[in-house]
Amino acid sequence: MDEAETIALRRAAALAAERRHCYCGVWETAPEKFVALGLPEQFCGWCQVCGEPGHTRHHPGAVPATGCWCDRHYGRLARWHPATPMGCLVWLCVLSGIGLGAWGVVFW
Ligand SMILES: [Zn+2]
Ligand SMILES: [Zn+2]
Repeated sequence: MDEAETIALRRAAALAAERRHCYCGVWETAPEKFVALGLPEQFCGWCQVCGEPGHTRHHPGAVPATGCWCDRHYGRLARWHPATPMGCLVWLCVLSGIGLGAWGVVFW
C-alpha cells in the first residue's frame, strides 16, 4: 500500500468514525498508537465479545459505558440490550408476555 492510499484510507476511517462515534479518528491524528496495538486499518479496537477487529464506542443504550464491539455484536447489543429503545421494547414484550401468562394461570 503506498502513502497516498494509506492517507485516503485513514481519511475514510476518520469520516466513518464521525458517523459511528468511535475512535477511528485517531487513525488520522495519531495512527502510530493503533499500529502499536496491532490494529488493522479502519478499526479502532478489538471486539470484547468475539475478539474480531471492531470499534471502540459508547454503549448503544442509556448506559454510561464505553466498550469495543464489531459491527455484528454492536448490532446485536442494540437490538437486545434492555437499555436501548429496541431492546427495551423486546424485553417489555417478553415481560408482559410472562405477566399475562402468569395472570392466565392464576385467574383461569
Ligand atoms: Zn472505529
Ligand atoms: Zn464481535
